[in-house]
Amino acid sequence: MIAANDGITSGLTKTRRGLRSVLGGLWRKDRLTQEDFDAIEEALLMADVGIEATGALIDAIAAGKQHTYDARSDLAIRTIIELLERGIDFQTSLEKVIIIAGVNGTGKTTSAAKMAAHYAQAGKKSLLIAADTYRAAAVDQLAIWAERAGMTMVAPQTTVEAAALAYSGVEQGLAENYDRIIIDTAGRIHTSRPLMDQLAKLRRVVGKQTDEVSTLLVIDATVGQVGIAQARQFSEHVELEGYILSKMDGTARGGVAIPIMLKTKLPVHFTGVGEDLEDLAPFNLENYVRGLFLD
Ligand code: GDP
Ligand code: MG
Repeated sequence: MIAANDGITSGLTKTRRGLRSVLGGLWRKDRLTQEDFDAIEEALLMADVGIEATGALIDAIAAGKQHTYDARSDLAIRTIIELLERGIDFQTSLEKVIIIAGVNGTGKTTSAAKMAAHYAQAGKKSLLIAADTYRAAAVDQLAIWAERAGMTMVAPQTTVEAAALAYSGVEQGLAENYDRIIIDTAGRIHTSRPLMDQLAKLRRVVGKQTDEVSTLLVIDATVGQVGIAQARQFSEHVELEGYILSKMDGTARGGVAIPIMLKTKLPVHFTGVGEDLEDLAPFNLENYVRGLFLD
């Protein structure tokens, strides 16, 4: 597959279109006025690129000698990548057991199934654990995905607590040598203490079984900077390894990965770019930042 077109670029279509509608004209000008810079700033903030990256980018454009859209885009891309690489480790890989957490409706169940499909493509076998014990429909939903993709799923047989289900699922996954054990959890409001305690308990229980555990927070890109508050609050209760940024395809605010990562110093690992099983793109920093400006 061509690196620059790995799903992220097409997932960023709306965001890129929004940015280009303003920057496309301005970045071709020889001399940029204060008004031009104001318009550039507004466009970047509208795309949720965030204040910090917007400031760095404007400074770089003002100091630079570039006069074409492509050249100024290249400068913008380099500036943002440098800013992100300064504080965030993009090399960390995920552990065998992956807990998927997040607010209701963000795309946890869909992302869990997509991840299993992603690993299957690399010949890796995943066990899906339906630990959303609040909603029977959530278990059915994951079961449909699992069946469609020919994946194994562990689901509650009786009313059982999420942590207990995760425990028995992980036990099975480890015993049967699955490459990945992906735990889909119930949606929880990040401000609800009991729900967050329950997630922390699930994490603790699984952590006693194995050290190989990563927790990912699914953030819906369409909610914009609210995602930062979610990231902060979840990380107060459970250690996070990073994010899945879902629904990038549905928003012109796809720049939001930048402030989320800058504020929390954690990387995005995957982006959701559609509703189908294959609509998950592993996060690639260069392709992501490039995709904001260039096709
Ligand atoms: P959960 O409540 O967090 O488990 O969320 P679901 O996985 O059930 O997803 C909620 C809705 O968002 C469903 O209609 C999904 O099809 C949709 N969805 C999830 N991820 C994406 C994505 O990356 N792009 C788009 N367009 N829709 C998504
Ligand atoms: Mg769900």
